[in-house]
Amino acid sequence: MTNPMDTFETLNPPQRMLMGPGPINAYPRVHQALSQSLIGQYDPVMTGYMNQVQSLYRGVFHTQNQQTMLVDGTARSGIEAVLVSVLEPGDKVLIPVIGRFGHLLCEIANRVGAQVKTIDIEWGEVCMPDQVEAAIKSFQPKLVATVQGDTSTTMNQPLAEIGEVCKKHGVLYYCDATASIAGNELKVDEWHLDAVSAGLQKCLGGPSGSAPITLSDQCATVINQRKHIEAGIRADHHINGQGKMIQSNYFDLAMIMDYWGPERLNHHTEATSMLYAARECARLFLEEGPDTVIARHKQAGDALAAGLVAMNLELFGNQTYKMNNVVGVYIPANIDGDAVRGELLSRFGIEIGTSFGPLHGKIWRIGTMGYNARQECVLTTLAALEAVLIKHRANINPGQAVAAAIEYYA
Ligand SMILES: *Cc1c(COP(=O)(O)O)cnc(C)c1O
Repeated sequence: MTNPMDTFETLNPPQRMLMGPGPINAYPRVHQALSQSLIGQYDPVMTGYMNQVQSLYRGVFHTQNQQTMLVDGTARSGIEAVLVSVLEPGDKVLIPVIGRFGHLLCEIANRVGAQVKTIDIEWGEVCMPDQVEAAIKSFQPKLVATVQGDTSTTMNQPLAEIGEVCKKHGVLYYCDATASIAGNELKVDEWHLDAVSAGLQKCLGGPSGSAPITLSDQCATVINQRKHIEAGIRADHHINGQGKMIQSNYFDLAMIMDYWGPERLNHHTEATSMLYAARECARLFLEEGPDTVIARHKQAGDALAAGLVAMNLELFGNQTYKMNNVVGVYIPANIDGDAVRGELLSRFGIEIGTSFGPLHGKIWRIGTMGYNARQECVLTTLAALEAVLIKHRANINPGQAVAAAIEYYA
């Protein structure tokens, strides 16, 4: 037992290079934003920042959606807010499962009381639009819910054609783009997505703790049909929706929309420092330019993958659909994957990831995201991994990896 009066030492975390599937090192400007002064929730400066954040994330999401805002919490708070606000108990939802986060969508939808039908895809592959169309025809869901980049398998689910299919059949379409946004193309309006949620701790280059979301007008209408404003703040002009009350108060997007909207109806207290961070992440992305940032992620991802192959390691999954920002690589035979990860951390200060479920202990996942989608991060990680693998007597080609990766930065 520790002494409850012990104040421990001043925080002094080590400098790590976070090259796993997230979280990653934040951009220095995001750290600066996080340390700015706190102001009141309804200070006109603060509500001004809230409006700016809405505008900035319309840019990030490639959308005109009025309803673009932050949910306060990690990325799964955005997922949960969308699913609990859209799906009433008994509603049908169709979920292609390409990895761990597809299972998470199912789990949340089940908790909400929805009828869940899955399309189960082998890990390392993606779902085809005709599979979705066939399932829509037989199951008639209210919502199709997908994950774009599922970091558990490193695959990037193509969304545009599924969006067409959903539009054709009048089905709402939601996507969790946490791991893919800002590192891979995402066009919310063009691809007919009705709801998208994300997080900061992948390619947006911030800490976890804020979930940007966007909702189409149609999706907002569906949610507003369930609006029940809290008794303590309700006024005469507020009329309850016809639909069933949303089961969560914190994740009630009908009320959250009113908090971000012109009425500014009090809901939670906006997480000021996280809003500053989210704002800076979006500014960095838009300033550098979406195409440039995505190309930088592709360059880093391709360089890393080429280095791993040159080292004589085997990549995981269908490479046609690989996310730009994270690669899965098989742990070589007779090598203790966790021991190698441990030595990368203790000797080099570099963190890489393991995986979940059927891939646990079989692959490592190495990310190049946000601030770390840079040449020096790629080269240092390859050099360090090679050194540790040589120490563990793995059957690799020494001296090849860094040279192969450098070619991508000629
Ligand atoms: C990393 C990741 C998340 C993270 O969720 P948190 O609640 O922020 O931990 C969610 N979805 C996907 C697809 C991810 O890759």
